[in-house]
Amino acid sequence: MQLLYLRLVRGMYMKLFSLSKFVNIPNFKSLDPFTEIIEVKEPKLMVYSLTQQHNMSCTPVVKRRDEVLKGQVIGESENKSVGPIYSSVSGKVKQITTEVGLDGDKYEVVVIENDGLYKELEREKIDYKSLSFEQLKEHIKNLGLVETQNLTTRKRGLHIPFKKACKNILLNAQESGLYGQIDTYLFMAEKEDFLNGIEILRNLYKDADIKLLTTNDQTTVKGFSELLKETNVEIVPKKPTQYYHDINLASRDVFSDFNMKDTMVLDAFMLPALARGIRDNELTHYQYILVNGNDTKKPGIYKVINGSQIKDLQEASEAMDPFRMVGGSILSGDAIYSLDTTIDKGIREILFLSKDEVARDEEINCIKCGRCQDICPMNLKPWELNEMAINRDFDDFFKNRGGMCVECGLCSYVCPSKRHLLQSFKTAKKASRG
Ligand code: SF4
Ligand code: SF4
Repeated sequence: MQLLYLRLVRGMYMKLFSLSKFVNIPNFKSLDPFTEIIEVKEPKLMVYSLTQQHNMSCTPVVKRRDEVLKGQVIGESENKSVGPIYSSVSGKVKQITTEVGLDGDKYEVVVIENDGLYKELEREKIDYKSLSFEQLKEHIKNLGLVETQNLTTRKRGLHIPFKKACKNILLNAQESGLYGQIDTYLFMAEKEDFLNGIEILRNLYKDADIKLLTTNDQTTVKGFSELLKETNVEIVPKKPTQYYHDINLASRDVFSDFNMKDTMVLDAFMLPALARGIRDNELTHYQYILVNGNDTKKPGIYKVINGSQIKDLQEASEAMDPFRMVGGSILSGDAIYSLDTTIDKGIREILFLSKDEVARDEEINCIKCGRCQDICPMNLKPWELNEMAINRDFDDFFKNRGGMCVECGLCSYVCPSKRHLLQSFKTAKKASRG
């Protein structure tokens, strides 16, 4: 009888999770900092997801066989917070179809055959200083950038939060990868535009106190100290034990006179692209991604053109037989379901994990140590919620405030039993949406 019960429970468990193909993220590895940027060759077939921002889709404004130029809009939305999607190459629209996204759902994509010529749509120069505040905001939205300011994938895609006036500006660069530091490119490949971004902020907000929140990784602190030594921007390394699920909490720690209404937080990783867009009206058609995991022969920071797919990174990083793939930002990583998935903007890191690596971190029974509960910024009881999610008690899951989970991933990270807590919460929320 007991055996039958166990089989039943196990059956339910597999049913719930076999779809989600979850991965518990192996703990941080100490790595030598990456000192070079590896460029991924532009693929012949470019695939652009029309949903680069969570739950905010664009509709295609091109059709099959259209010729497009680099910098041409291929998708846009009537929603005021959603920026347009641009082609990063010139070529011909092959088809408009659907493709599996990072979360396993299907999304509409535009497929463009890259002609390799990169004929570009001309963009008029602008003087941002002559724009009204509303015009500046509109201009920034039209750059099509996606930021990860609130750190969770759930909130990715909030439009860039410029305020009309502010006293404090927090540049948020505290996001470290699951498997290494991802910020080195800011003081290597992007340093001039990073400084240009600070100059623009100084022009727009003359008296503001600008601070840069970073990890306390030595390479990071040294890199930013060198870069910012003439700028009057203070670097604030956060303590290794400080985790911020909400950037307003970070602002409160950084500015003694914090007040939400006159504090602005900007994603420091986006500042170079923002600077190019504001100052030169230039679009940024690429992003930097840290690639790691034992299956890749060439871990490092990769420069990837928009419209690339996971398989392009897999090939470039010589990850020939990954057992699991994870696309992540900060502590929460999501299993990647297909090599054909397009690389969304705002993804900071992709892991190609070997079987050994994943097997080392298989979950075992909860020992009720309470660590997950202690660290949860939302005062939830993750171990209880996990049981409810596994048992598909979704009513209880939501009654016990499971819906409040901000998907920060801290509980999964501290759990000694490697319970797949965050993934179970994501699955419960997804299942309840139907
Ligand atoms: S941290 Fe892990 S083992 Fe400890 S109570 Fe939470 S789920 Fe259970
Ligand atoms: S339950 Fe876990 S993932 Fe959700 S908010 Fe709490 S610590 Fe973060």
